[in-house]
Amino acid sequence: MSFHLDYLLDLPGVKVETCTQIEGQIYFRLGALASEIVCPHCNNYTEELHQNRPTLVRDLSVFGRVVYLQVPRRQFYCASCQRYITEKLEFIDKKRRHTQRYEQNIYVRVQQSSMEQIGREEGLSYDEVKGIFSQVSSSQKKNVGSQSNE
Ligand SMILES: [Zn+2]
Repeated sequence: MSFHLDYLLDLPGVKVETCTQIEGQIYFRLGALASEIVCPHCNNYTEELHQNRPTLVRDLSVFGRVVYLQVPRRQFYCASCQRYITEKLEFIDKKRRHTQRYEQNIYVRVQQSSMEQIGREEGLSYDEVKGIFSQVSSSQKKNVGSQSNE
């Protein structure tokens, strides 16, 4: 697809394959750029793709429309150590349903407003907003801890 969309998307390691609109919401289907990954267990490269089960994650709205990304979730097989490895995408935290930048955005806005208000604006349930808020606040605590020597 058009490189302009990749430019606008601005996420590492992926490209836009299709862009569709369903009931006013924008869906980008993304493909992974790398054909191989480094096995975290033995540091060997593997390009043996075992399976891909894409997941849908929420991203920041564009042009006033809600955006979802269908991101690849690839599992590779490492022949060297005979293990299955799930590829990590650096813009989504493990097991989250939103991009990091989306969660960061919600976190900042909740501090200036309230969970109820941001939930209404984004069409998210109270529990979802609360989940995002505690996710970002705990990951920030971790970062502060690791940077304490600087
Ligand atoms: Zn390995």
